[in-house]
Amino acid sequence: MNEQILLAERPKGMPTKDTFKYEKIEMPTAKEGEVLVQTLYLSVDPYMRGRMNDTKSYVPPFELNAPLAGGIVARVTESKSDRFKEGDIVTGMLPWKRYSAAEAKNLQKVDPELAPITTAIGVLGMPGLTAYFGLLEIGQPKEGETVVVSGAAGAVGSVVGQIAKIKGARVVGIAGSEDKIAYLKDELGFDEVINYKKGNVKEALKEACPNGVDVYFENVGGEISDAVVSLLNKFARIPLCGQISLYNLEKQDVGPRVQTPLLINSALMKGFIVADYADKFPEGIKQLGEWVQQGKIKYSENIVEGFENVPEAFLGLFEGANLGKQLVKVAE
Ligand code: NDP
Repeated sequence: MNEQILLAERPKGMPTKDTFKYEKIEMPTAKEGEVLVQTLYLSVDPYMRGRMNDTKSYVPPFELNAPLAGGIVARVTESKSDRFKEGDIVTGMLPWKRYSAAEAKNLQKVDPELAPITTAIGVLGMPGLTAYFGLLEIGQPKEGETVVVSGAAGAVGSVVGQIAKIKGARVVGIAGSEDKIAYLKDELGFDEVINYKKGNVKEALKEACPNGVDVYFENVGGEISDAVVSLLNKFARIPLCGQISLYNLEKQDVGPRVQTPLLINSALMKGFIVADYADKFPEGIKQLGEWVQQGKIKYSENIVEGFENVPEAFLGLFEGANLGKQLVKVAE
């Protein structure tokens, strides 16, 4: 039997277990040009929360009573395409199912000899590329500058901080637990890390950034963002990547307006979606792969076991349950 997880209702505020519905279904069959794949690892990502709302965004909303979907690493179990053979490991955007029939042209091959296959949806996949292009194309950190990154211990933030170190910047992270802070400082070499759940973030940031902030890689929004923006230097750059602290709010958040600090500092704030850089992905994957092989970029994965635990893994993102990339292991 096959299994799938559907969007059962559109959440108001924080999603719950009732947002999802698990069910057993028939096995799919592959048509000409398709492959049958078995899900091995499934990625849960904060952006999926936005797709649960019935609102216009850069990707269409998930449909009600249809399977959710996201980045998956899978094994080809049957091929009706000359692009793949049985046993190949592939990645692509696939539905939350144990087995799927997918068009071969929408999948990419993963080479298990190059790196662990999980990295295709982590440090060498969408989150790694988000860090790489957001920081280097928009943030453009220079030697000796101060780079602040929020969501610093997550899939994107942990890579941002390490790339900024490679570029010679001073890196200040913001994260939500003492374990995460120890990891970022001791294992990844961040210069300072602030626990936003303890004390006054603005005061702690002032102390951690005595020369102000040149680049702020924005993952969380809200009051953390307000605090960083108050410390911007002249010509600061802000890659606007995510706003996780706002995704589950029922009422729109109104904070201090950013135009004045941007204006008086001649600063740049630019929103981006990783797909904006799709034509440069091969360059990004190559460079990230080299840095990982050289030990210049380390990565951590938080792996929950079992297909039925996908909702729990997703909900954990909003409670900071993950250090590094949150994945679900579905099969060996
Ligand atoms: P993470 O691996 O960073 O996981 C989410 C983390 O966010 C949690 O571990 C938690 O860590 C932190 N968090 C949760 N709630 C809050 C809150 N209220 N305030 C502050 N921190 C919070 O996720 P990703 O690395 O995958 O994504 C990071 C951000 O980047 C997200 O906003 C996401 O939407 C965005 N993104 C944007 C992309 C783009 O193309 N623009 C692509 C990919 C991601 P802690 O313990 O520190 O609280």
